[in-house]
Amino acid sequence: MQIETAYEPQRFEPHWAEWWIRSGIFHAAGKNSGAASRPVFSLVIPPPNVTGSLHIGHMLEHTEIDVTIRWHRMLGENTLWLPGTDHAGIATQMVVERHLAEQGILRRDLGREKFEERVWQWKAQYGDTIKRQMIRLGASCDWSRERFTLDPGLSAAVREVFVRLYEKGLIYRGEYMVNWCPRCQTAISDLEVTHADVQGHLWHIRYPVNGMPGRYLVVATTRPETMLGDTAVAINAKDSRYLDLHGKTVQLPLMDREIPIILDDLADPEFGSGAVKVTPAHDPNDFEAGRRHNLPKVKVIDELGRMTTEAGPYAGEDRFEARRRVVADLEAKSLIAKIEDYPMVVGKCSRCSTIVEPLISTQWFVRMKPLAEKAIDVVESGRIQFVPANWVKTYNEWMYNIRDWCISRQLWWGHRIPAWHCRECHEILVAREKPPSCSRCGSTHLEQDPDVLDTWFSSGLWPFSTLGWPAHTEDLATFYPTSLLITGFDILFFWVARMIMMGLEFMGEVPFRHVYIHGLVRDAERQKMSKTRGNTIDPLIVTEKYGTDAVRMTLLQGATPGNDIVLTEERMEGSRKFANKIWNAARFLFMRMQSAGVEPWLPESLAAFYPEASADTLEVPVEDRWIFSRLNSTAEQANRAIEQYRYHEVAQVLWQFFWHEFCDWYLELKKLRFRDENTGPNADWRNTLAAFETALRLLHPAMPFLTEELWKRLAAGRSDRPVSIALALYPQYRSSATDYAAEREIGILQDIVTMARNLRAESKLDPKQPVEGTLYSHGNALEIARKHAEAIHRMANVKLALETGSAPHSPVMRSTTEFDLVLQLPKAREEAQSRRKEKEREQLIKNIESSERQLSDEVFLAKAPAKVVETIRKKLEDYRAQLHKLNGSL
Ligand SMILES: [Zn+2]
Ligand SMILES: [Zn+2]
Repeated sequence: MQIETAYEPQRFEPHWAEWWIRSGIFHAAGKNSGAASRPVFSLVIPPPNVTGSLHIGHMLEHTEIDVTIRWHRMLGENTLWLPGTDHAGIATQMVVERHLAEQGILRRDLGREKFEERVWQWKAQYGDTIKRQMIRLGASCDWSRERFTLDPGLSAAVREVFVRLYEKGLIYRGEYMVNWCPRCQTAISDLEVTHADVQGHLWHIRYPVNGMPGRYLVVATTRPETMLGDTAVAINAKDSRYLDLHGKTVQLPLMDREIPIILDDLADPEFGSGAVKVTPAHDPNDFEAGRRHNLPKVKVIDELGRMTTEAGPYAGEDRFEARRRVVADLEAKSLIAKIEDYPMVVGKCSRCSTIVEPLISTQWFVRMKPLAEKAIDVVESGRIQFVPANWVKTYNEWMYNIRDWCISRQLWWGHRIPAWHCRECHEILVAREKPPSCSRCGSTHLEQDPDVLDTWFSSGLWPFSTLGWPAHTEDLATFYPTSLLITGFDILFFWVARMIMMGLEFMGEVPFRHVYIHGLVRDAERQKMSKTRGNTIDPLIVTEKYGTDAVRMTLLQGATPGNDIVLTEERMEGSRKFANKIWNAARFLFMRMQSAGVEPWLPESLAAFYPEASADTLEVPVEDRWIFSRLNSTAEQANRAIEQYRYHEVAQVLWQFFWHEFCDWYLELKKLRFRDENTGPNADWRNTLAAFETALRLLHPAMPFLTEELWKRLAAGRSDRPVSIALALYPQYRSSATDYAAEREIGILQDIVTMARNLRAESKLDPKQPVEGTLYSHGNALEIARKHAEAIHRMANVKLALETGSAPHSPVMRSTTEFDLVLQLPKAREEAQSRRKEKEREQLIKNIESSERQLSDEVFLAKAPAKVVETIRKKLEDYRAQLHKLNGSL
C-alpha cells in the first residue's frame, strides 16, 4: 500500500498504456469463441492519414470514442474498437514527393514502381506514429485487428466492389469537366476545391459579326485566354437587341476562326452585354451548352496549365502569361471594349492552393443517384440516427442534389483501377485480376489503367472491408453492422454518406446505427487551431505536462453536443488539480489503512456495486449510507450521459461527485470518525474502500490511467478479481439503493456547515477564530445538529447552542425551511458592524427626507415627467423598507 507523495502521472501512464496492450484485455471475441451470449458493441475508427501524427482534434475524437468503448466493455459487452489508418492517396503522395525533393529526387525520374516502393518504405518508417501515440494516450483499441486501406484484404474488397458496380452499370467511363490541379496533376473532386474571394477583372471583348461590317458582339470574361478555345457565342432568344443576329456567325479574334451565334439560355440578358462566349473545353456550363448544341471542344490549356498547339501563337505559354498577351494583342487591335474591376471567386486546390483549371478529361465515375436513394431512406426512417439530429438536414441537402462521383485520380499511390486496356482493339476489360487476354480480339497486349481510385473509395468500404468482406468471416457476422460512428462534420459527405451507400449496397444493411458528430477544438478566443495561426496544442506535449487523464478530462468537459470545444492550458491545470485531489484522497485512505494494520484487500462487496439497503443499514454510519446513495445517483447520471453522448455531463457529474461530495464531505466526515475509532479493520473501512473502489470504476472511462493505478493497488494480489479495472463492472443505478433518510440528514448537516462558513466569511472572521452561535430548529435539524455537533464544530469552527422555534432578528443570520442559524460575533467585530449599520441608517434617513421633499414640491411635480416621479416614489418605498429592516437588526 505504498503510495508516492506526489501525483506524477508520467511515472505510471506509459506503464499502463503498454500493459493494457500486452495483456490483451482490449481483444474482442468472435461469435464462435464463446462470446455468443454477450451483447456486441463495435466501432471502427475514422482511419487517420498514415502520414499524419496525432493532433488535438484526433485526441478529442479518440477520447470520446474511448469513453464510450470502455463503458460498453465495463457493461460486460463484447466490445470492439477496430483501429487502422488510411493510405490517403494525394496527401501521402505529396508528403513523400516533398521528402524526396529535399534529396533532389523527382517522382517522374524515379518512375512509378520505384516511387511506390519509396512510399511503402516511408510508411514502414513513419506509419506507426499514430499507433504509438494512440497507445500512449490510452485508446483501448483491439490492435490485433488493425487495418490499413492498402492491405491485401482491403485491396481485394476494393476490386470486388469496383467490378460489381461496373457490372451493374453503376461505374462508367466518360468525358467530363473535372476540376484539375495543374500542380498535383490530377482531377480533384468538388469537395476538394476551396473557394477564395479575389479582386479580378472583367474584360469586354468585341467579336466582329461576319457579313455586317462595323457590327460587333461584345462578350465579357474573367479568363480572356480561354477565348482561344471558343466555339460559339450565345445570345438569348428573347433578347430583342440581337434579333437580327439569329443564324449569323462571328469571327473569333486572334484565331481568325468563324464560329456560330447560338440561341441558348446560357446567355443572360441581364448580365453584361447579354452575349456570352462559349468554351466547351474549359468551363462546366459551357461544356453543357456545347453538348446541347453539338459544338466542338477546342482544348487550349493542357494538364500542366500551359497553352496547347490549339492555342496557335500562344502554344507552350503558361496560362497566366497567355492571359496577359491575349489582352495586349486584343488591345492592339482595339477589340477590348472596356475592362472592369470584378470581385470574383476562384477555386483552389485544397492541397496546394494552385488555381484549379476546369478541364475535360476521360475519367471513371460512380452513378450516385441509385445509391443515394436508399441512403436517404435509412436516415429518414431512423435506422441510422445522427447526434445532434440537425446534421440530418445537411446530409439530406447533399444527398438530394448528389452528382456522379469522379473516382479516378491521376496519382501513383493508391488502389490502381482494375481495368485493362487492350492495345490492339482498345477494348476495356474490368476484372478482379489481370485477364490473360483480350476478350474481344484475343490479344495479350493488355495494359492496366494508370489511374488510381479516390482515397474515399476504399474508406467508404471501411466498416465491412476491415471485417473481412467479401469473405463470410466470423468477424463480419459478429461485428457488422457496427454500433456507432464518432467523427467530425467535415467528412460527413466525403466519408459518412459514402459508407452508408456502400454498406447498403454490399451488405444490405446500414454500416452503423448511430453517428455522433463532434465539434472542433478551438483556442481561448474561440479561434480555429491551425499551424499558421500558431495556436495549436500538441497533445503529446500537454499530456506530458499535465498527464493524459487531465487532458482527456478537459476535452470531455468542453464536449457539449453541437458545439465546438474551447481548450486552454488553464483548464488542463484545473483538471490536473482534480486528478491530484483524487490521488491525495487515495493517499489518505491507504495511509490510514496501513496505520490501522489493515491488509491491502478489496472489500467483499466488490462484486456488488454497493451494499444492499437492508435492516442492518441502521448500524452503518450515516455518512457511509449517504455516500452510497450519492454513488447511486452519480451512477445513474453517468450512465445516462455516456449513453447519450453528453460527454461534458459525464465529466461534470464525476467531477462534482469526487471533488465536492467524496473529498470535501465524505472524507472530512470520515477523518473525524477515524480520529476516534482508529482500531483496525471494521465496518467503516469496508464501506469506505467499497465507496472509493466504486467511484474509481465510475471514473475509469474518463480517466483510465489514474483509476487503473489506484485500483490495482487496492486489488493487489487478489486472484479472484478482474486483472484490470477496465474489465470490472460499471456501477449501475438501483432504485432500492437510494437512501433518502441519509441524504436528508447529511443535506441538513451540509447546510448548517456551509451557512456557518458563509456567515463567517461575510463577517471577515479569521477561520481560526472560534465562534459561538445558535441553531433554531423548525423541524428535524435539532436532532441532526446534536448528533453532528463535533463535525459542525470541526468543519466550521463554530459551537452551536440548540433551540427550537424561530430566531429573533439578527444581522448575522441565515435561514432554511429547517432552521435559522445565528452566529455571535466577537465583541469588537460586533461593535464595528453596529457602527457601519448606524452610518447606513443615517444615510437612509437623509435619502428618505430628500425624496419626501421632492414629492411634496408641487412645482417639481408639475414639471417632472411621470416616469421620474414614479422612480422617486419607488426609491422612497425602498429606503423605507431598508430602514425598517435595519432598525430591526440594531
Ligand atoms: Zn494541387
Ligand atoms: Zn482487344
